[in-house]
Amino acid sequence: MSELLFPKSLPEFQKLFPDDAACAVYMERVRWPKGFVCPSCETAGEPGRIATRPHVLRCKKCKKEARLTAGTVMQDSHTPLLTWFWGAYLVASLTPGIAGCSWTCLSFCYCGAAPCCRAVTSSDCCSS
Ligand SMILES: [Zn+2]
Repeated sequence: MSELLFPKSLPEFQKLFPDDAACAVYMERVRWPKGFVCPSCETAGEPGRIATRPHVLRCKKCKKEARLTAGTVMQDSHTPLLTWFWGAYLVASLTPGIAGCSWTCLSFCYCGAAPCCRAVTSSDCCSS
């Protein structure tokens, strides 16, 4: 699997993340870098996908849904992923002292840090 990219410019951001589906693919790779593992039954393997709900994956074994946003600041939000990505990109790219690696930590932190922005300044967040 190729390395996750951090967009270094607005045109690059727009190319990497043209829509919610592209954002969902990115989040899936952040959450399961070695491939999907069902949070309910821990079965590994390609999940079922719902075209109209790119942020939801369905375990083919137990049929339970896994939301890509579960455990993040986005989990109860109805805001489109692309909007969150824009916010994360702008904060990460415009805030002095935030390194590119914090882009992932900012919005896709699954460590339970809240508010998520605290994760940006916490060196112990998302160390995995
Ligand atoms: Zn399952």
